[in-house]
Amino acid sequence: MTHETKPGRTLWETVAPLLARIERPSRYSNHEFNALYKPEASYRAALLYPDTYEIGQANQAIGILYDLINGLDDCSCERAFLPWVDMLALMREQGISLFTLESMSPVRDLDLFGITMPHELAVTNILEALDLAGIPLHADQRDESHPLILGGGPGAFNPEPMAEFFDAIAVGEGEEVTCEIIDVHLRARARNASRRELLEALAEIPGVYVPLLHEEGRVITKRVIQDFDACPVVTAPIVPFAEVAHDRFVIEVLRGCSRGCRFCQAGMLYRPVRERSADTIVKAVARGIACTGFDEVALSSLSTTDHSQIEQILRRLNHQLSGTGVGISLPSQRLDAFGVDMARLVAGEKKAGLTFAPEAGTQRLRDIINKNVTEDNLISAVQQAFSAGWRRCKLYFMIGLPGETDEDIRAIAELVNRAYAAAKDAVPETKRGQVRMSMSVAVFVPKVTTPFQWVGQIARAEIERRIAVLRGTRLHKGIDLKWHDPASSLIEAALSRAGREAAALIEAAWRGGARFDAWTEQFRLAAWEAAAQQVGLSLNELAEHEYAVDEPLPWDHIDCGVSKEYLRAEYERALSAVTTPDCSFVGCTDCGACPTLEASVRLGGDSRG
Ligand code: SF4
Repeated sequence: MTHETKPGRTLWETVAPLLARIERPSRYSNHEFNALYKPEASYRAALLYPDTYEIGQANQAIGILYDLINGLDDCSCERAFLPWVDMLALMREQGISLFTLESMSPVRDLDLFGITMPHELAVTNILEALDLAGIPLHADQRDESHPLILGGGPGAFNPEPMAEFFDAIAVGEGEEVTCEIIDVHLRARARNASRRELLEALAEIPGVYVPLLHEEGRVITKRVIQDFDACPVVTAPIVPFAEVAHDRFVIEVLRGCSRGCRFCQAGMLYRPVRERSADTIVKAVARGIACTGFDEVALSSLSTTDHSQIEQILRRLNHQLSGTGVGISLPSQRLDAFGVDMARLVAGEKKAGLTFAPEAGTQRLRDIINKNVTEDNLISAVQQAFSAGWRRCKLYFMIGLPGETDEDIRAIAELVNRAYAAAKDAVPETKRGQVRMSMSVAVFVPKVTTPFQWVGQIARAEIERRIAVLRGTRLHKGIDLKWHDPASSLIEAALSRAGREAAALIEAAWRGGARFDAWTEQFRLAAWEAAAQQVGLSLNELAEHEYAVDEPLPWDHIDCGVSKEYLRAEYERALSAVTTPDCSFVGCTDCGACPTLEASVRLGGDSRG
């Protein structure tokens, strides 16, 4: 299919000469292996991940929905990504609008434009994408000639800062609701319904939030897949021409995590825990490798080594992949001996590096955040890993957690020093020079639907002081310390718990040049500060705002299944440093997700909840 930008010229003829003038032309090429193209379809959708190709192409949700929509009769789905700044400038200069990869169609000509809302630092990219596509930013400015602008992803759980830019937002897992949305759209089209009639029909679908029509008091409950094991696996994903963030075959082995870390939004959003069976996983991996030729399989989830059949899965995959040159990877390691055993099962001779996340330096603070691991767990996991042949290890921590003191910060350094000493003791004397440990320190950002949703982020000056405390500690020479930029964490915190008033801030920041905020070299705090001043808001006040536990919250109309009462009780337990066990192992702790969502925890074929 060709689309003309100027009489007599196709879009490709216009774009091709630009590719010699930009970085990574492969970001804009099409026809990758396994890419699908259905020119005969009468209903055409595009999915956009609001970042570059190499970030977005690695996103699993895009891959799942791409496969699913293309599997529907008479429907096609294409991909779009945000062009990097060099291509963006050229496209603006030449009047080229945002196009899809598969057919190089202008996105504005399609029926549906689905946009992932991945995190707070992507919001300006969403506006950039809409504007580049020639689509009005605000839902109330669109008419029948524009595609339906559908949002989804983690950002749907506090949609208000972005609500006025979307026609509809799907809350929760997208596999079923996306098909229902398309079905409603097709029916509306068949009866020549107006845009408003379409929105009214969409608002009737469970889990769909239509900001323009939302009535006060109505609650949108997230959608959840009941039988995750029966949910098709994408076994023929697109194989990119160029390197992307995760260049491998990925299979989601379980969904959800109920360990209950109190800072972790994903741990609350994706409850209840549901597993794919060992048989499903092993068969899907065989097919996935045959369909792609990847030389690595990632078993992905929030907590892969918690899968009830993980040992069996790894042993069977090792057997199946033996002699093929295909390796297996786990996203991060459980902080105990079992975690290291499982890492050993997948590593073979290639012991690249291990990742552990103790998150805090003292037991008191780990209890506050419900990170149910001890110093002994960390030391013995490190000892076991280094004596098994690993030489490098990365440790993740957070700074600015509720209840943190300077003693907790200094304890991070002491803990890492002890882990480093244990690692050195565990390797032969001649190899000790090879031992490397890195510690990565993120700034705590309070997130909605967590027990810490009421608390504010600590002030930026205080974050900087605490980082200075950590940098002032004595670390062994083999330990490398990295910390997250407090300025971009401020923007994350300012937006994460804000209400609809933040829309004007986001739009002003974008108009002031903010985009690609998650990229250190592109992040412009000055654009955000100017925008805040322009719209009469304070970034610091938004980020540091403390909500009373009994006041209404801007995201109260979105229900992730976990009850507000549970979150509040967890917050109170945090204040007393009392931990809560994982319901996957000890039984239900009454978070509310199973009854509200009419779902259940499904482990190794058993279901409960
Ligand atoms: S309702 Fe109970 S079993 Fe279900 S996720 Fe919550 S705590 Fe776990």
